[in-house]
Amino acid sequence: MTMTTSTHVTHRQRGLLFVITGASGVGKGTLRTRLLESISMVYSISWTTREARVGEYDGLDYHFRTREAFLHEIEEGAGFLEYAEFVGNLYGTPRGPVEQALKRGQNVLLEIEAQGAMQIKEAIPSAILIFIMPPSLKELHSRLTGRATETPDKIAKRLERAKDEIRMTHSFDYVVVNDDIERAANDLKSIVVAENLRSGHWKSEELEAVLAVC
Ligand code: 5GP
Repeated sequence: MTMTTSTHVTHRQRGLLFVITGASGVGKGTLRTRLLESISMVYSISWTTREARVGEYDGLDYHFRTREAFLHEIEEGAGFLEYAEFVGNLYGTPRGPVEQALKRGQNVLLEIEAQGAMQIKEAIPSAILIFIMPPSLKELHSRLTGRATETPDKIAKRLERAKDEIRMTHSFDYVVVNDDIERAANDLKSIVVAENLRSGHWKSEELEAVLAVC
């Protein structure tokens, strides 16, 4: 778990859970970094059975684990809030750190694929689901081939998965189109800020405290 501080978002008794989902190559990583730089929230580091790419670090980008360790965690460990198979590898959100942060009143951010996002909505209906939309599939294809972290076969599979995820857009609460990184980063920040300002988060004791001043 990493945490950054800057823009203040009100601390409630329980934090809010934000989920961002979008195809490989859509720019989720950059948007996530921008969000964490501008708003105080906890980022949940996932477990994965995928191998680390050059420049990725265990415990920072992911907890890189063997399939055996992952399956053991499901059956006998603390378990996952959600997990899914994605193009031949398992990915999951460790349950404990997310629940603890929410309990402390901190906002938590997950960056996960669509099946996992649906599991989160089922388990925690108050979670806020945000879909990051690519400007086009063509653009996604050129971004994926340009970054060259995957074989052509894996890229094709990731694109197929992207199509399935785009078809699930209506299951998300918000859609941010990443055709312009500045605007998309602002859109994302606006969603997080606005969700924190919802009147429903005010407890009657808090209203009483304001009224008590006069
Ligand atoms: P990548 O291999 O490109 O890092 O990630 C592949 C996909 O897995 C991305 O869509 C990413 O958002 C998703 N992912 C990362 N962590 C998790 C997780 O904990 N759970 C689920 N369901 N998906 C994840």
